[in-house]
Amino acid sequence: MDVRIDQLMRTGAAAPGIITLGGGLPAPELFPRRALMASFQRVMMDPSGAALQYGWPEGSEGLRGWIAERLRRRGADVSASDVIITSGAQQALAVASQVLFQRGDRVGCEPESYPGALDLFGTRGVLPVVGHDDVRALYVMPAVSNPHGRAMTTTDRRRWLDHAHAAQLPLLEDDAYAELRFDGPPHRPLLADARHLVWHIGTLSKTLCPGLRVGWLVAPPVMYRRALEAKQALDLQANSLALALLEDFLGRHDYDALVARARRFYHRRALHLAATLSRRLPSFRFTAPEGGFTLWAETDCDGDDRDLLEFALQHGVSFDPGRSFRVDLRSSRIALRLSFATESSARQDEGVARLARAWDMWRGR
Ligand code: PMP
Repeated sequence: MDVRIDQLMRTGAAAPGIITLGGGLPAPELFPRRALMASFQRVMMDPSGAALQYGWPEGSEGLRGWIAERLRRRGADVSASDVIITSGAQQALAVASQVLFQRGDRVGCEPESYPGALDLFGTRGVLPVVGHDDVRALYVMPAVSNPHGRAMTTTDRRRWLDHAHAAQLPLLEDDAYAELRFDGPPHRPLLADARHLVWHIGTLSKTLCPGLRVGWLVAPPVMYRRALEAKQALDLQANSLALALLEDFLGRHDYDALVARARRFYHRRALHLAATLSRRLPSFRFTAPEGGFTLWAETDCDGDDRDLLEFALQHGVSFDPGRSFRVDLRSSRIALRLSFATESSARQDEGVARLARAWDMWRGR
């Protein structure tokens, strides 16, 4: 099996001289380093030693309350006691998968999906398929999708929800990028419309920083116990130090202001990449992203987009091959996920110019 996420993380790790339009990492200049450092010092000096001690498997009460409050603002009926803190959204997905799937099950996905989830399903012997027929559960990114950076249409949202209701199918809602919607507040989560079916997955990795590894899972109420047992079996509890640090940080800083700044920052970069791409690579089709870190560009050419990546790397630019995101690997249409998150406007321009040269060479090969 291809380990898709590993390849992506590696193309995202900037090699010298390479302009990184791959990887989809957050911009390090947005990490609130000084404020986190001050919180770190405070929690380390707390005489209780809580930051270095074991805590509860579900995580700290304060942070769970903070997460529940944010979900309530978006229409979901959730309280602190429904939230399980995990090691990033990735572990929330792993916990949900452990409870829900048996080897040989199928999971219904969107045609292009998040490679870290596709890998996870693969390691558990669960087959991702496009659509919702004959599956054990559904996995979707309704608010802001990775790779498209777009929200589901209301028709599609309705269709997934109706199907989940009709077949009483568990619905894994990956909300990782929801807060990074550029125009307007985050979308209403599916959790608000199907509380007893939805396994809602969130994270601070995109808005704050991934290094702390803090995410969460809200399971359907009757599944809460089983989810908590699965989480506890994996690693006992989330990282006490990260949770103490975050609670201190969130109590002293305006998180909404921080997210608003990140939205403006990524929006500017998204607009720039879209403009330069339209100018320099008019044969790439894409729809302007509404949020997140990336856009999805398709071409009319067939082939293996990993070969195109080899050409691109030789020209000094990276991207993520569309194949890493495809649920149905029979499609051979060349597509690219391009990240606008980490490179400045000037470097985006240069990156797209390099990509255009690589594209011409690849087509004329
Ligand atoms: N879901 C999606 C859609 C993602 O893009 C990512 C990060 N690449 C994750 C989940 C995992 O995020 P975390 O860092 O919180 O584990």
